[in-house]
Amino acid sequence: MNRAQLTIKKISPLQAIVYTGTLSLVIIIVGTVGFFVTQQSLLEKVQKKQACYLDLVDFRGKLLEFGLSRDVAGVTMETDIGQRPEVLLFMYNKILSQMREAGLHPHTSFHLSQESWPTLLAGDNLKLFSLELEKNIDKAKVESKNASIKLLVINEFFLFFILAVLLTLSITAGWMLHNNYRETLIPLAQLVGQLKLLNRNIPESIHDTAEEMKKELTEMDYSNDITQITRSIMNFCGDIEAKNKKLDEIYIRDEKTNLYNYRHFKEHLIIDVERAKRLNDRVSLAMIDIDHFKFYNDSNGHLAGDYALKLLADIISSQCRAYDVPSRFGGDEFALLFPKTGTSTARDIAERLRKIISDRQFPYEDAQPVGELTVSIGIATFPDDALDWSTLISNADRALYKAKADGRNNVVVFTSIDPPNIPG
Ligand code: GH3
Ligand code: MG
Repeated sequence: MNRAQLTIKKISPLQAIVYTGTLSLVIIIVGTVGFFVTQQSLLEKVQKKQACYLDLVDFRGKLLEFGLSRDVAGVTMETDIGQRPEVLLFMYNKILSQMREAGLHPHTSFHLSQESWPTLLAGDNLKLFSLELEKNIDKAKVESKNASIKLLVINEFFLFFILAVLLTLSITAGWMLHNNYRETLIPLAQLVGQLKLLNRNIPESIHDTAEEMKKELTEMDYSNDITQITRSIMNFCGDIEAKNKKLDEIYIRDEKTNLYNYRHFKEHLIIDVERAKRLNDRVSLAMIDIDHFKFYNDSNGHLAGDYALKLLADIISSQCRAYDVPSRFGGDEFALLFPKTGTSTARDIAERLRKIISDRQFPYEDAQPVGELTVSIGIATFPDDALDWSTLISNADRALYKAKADGRNNVVVFTSIDPPNIPG
C-alpha cells in the first residue's frame, strides 16, 4: 500500500465526499469566472473585427461611387459630400485606426495625407488603393471569422470542462459509496452476525469470536470506524474471557491457601471414584490435620495462624503430582486426593510430606506443645477401604483420628485400624 492510499484510508468516506465536493465547487466557480472573462473579451474582439469588416465594405461602396462619379464628371469635385476626397480620407483613416485597435494590422502602402489624397484617388493609384482596400477587407473578414471560431471553441471547451468535472465528481462519489459499502456496511453486517452468535453462546464463543475478529481485522480492508468498533469488541471479548478465567479460579480455589476448595475436591472425588469403579482402578485419599493448631492460634494470633496455613498449603502443593488434587477441606484440615493410586504409594507420599513439614521451621513453632508444628495424616483407599466417596472421606477421617490418638505427627492407613467393636 503506497503513501497516497494510506492517506486516503485515513479520511472517512463522508470527509472524502465533502472534500471532493468542495474542490469541485471551487473548480467550477473559478472555471466559470475565467470562462466568462475570456468569452467577454473574445466577444468584444469579434464585434470590433466584424465592425471593421462592415465599415471597410461600406467604404468600398463609397469609393466605388466616388470613382464612377469622377469618371462621369472628369473632375475631382463631387456634389455628394460623402464622396469628397477629404471626407473619404478621413473615413478611411478612421477605419484603419479601428482595425489597429481591433488587432487587425491593416495593409497601408500609401502615405495618407490631405496633400497626397487627390493623387491617390487619381488614375492607376485608385486601382492600387482599391487593391489595398480589398486586401484589408479580406483580412478583416478572415480574422473576424477566426475570432468567431475561437469563441465557439472556447464555448465548447467550457461545456466539456463542466461535463468533465461533473463526471469526476460522480465517479468519486460512486467510488466512495462503493468503498463505504465494502468497508463499512458489509463488515457491519458481519459484526452483527458475530454478536448474535456471541449472545447465543456466552461464554463459550467469546474466545472464538475474539479470534475470528482478530483474523478478519488483519485480512479485511475495513473503514476506520469499523476497525475501531471491531477492536473494542475484540478487547471487550478479551476482558470477559480474562474475567471468566478469574471467576473459574475463584470458583474452585480456597482464598487463604490457594489450594482447591471443598466444592472442587468433592466434584473430583465423585468423578474419580466413579471412574475407578468403571476401570477397576484405585483412588486414595489422605486427610491431613494440623496438630495443636488451636494452641498455635491462641499463642500467636490468627494472622500468624493464617500465615502458617499458607506455608503448609505450599508444601502440600509442592509434594503433589500433576494429577493429584490438593485441597483445603475446612479449618486446619486438608484433603489430598490421589487418583489411580493405591494405599502404599499414597502412604509414601504422605509420609514424605509429614517429614518435610516436621523438619520445616515455622514462625513461633518452638512454643508448640512438642516444640514444632506438625501434621497428622489418615489414609483410606477405594475400593479397599470404602465403596463410595462419602465412606472414603469418613474412613480417611477415622484413620486421621487414630493418628491423633497415637500421639500425632504420624501417618495411619485405614486398613491398619482395628475394626470397631460392633455389639452383637
Ligand atoms: P488437634 O491436634 O487435635 O487437631 O488440635 P487442634 O488445636 O488443631 O484442634 P482442632 O483441629 O479441632 O482446631 C482447629 C483450629 O484451627 C481451631 C481454629 O482456631 C483453627 N482454625 C480453623 N480455621 C482457621 C483459619 O482459617 N485460620 C486460622 N488462623 N485458624 C483456623
Ligand atoms: Mg487440628
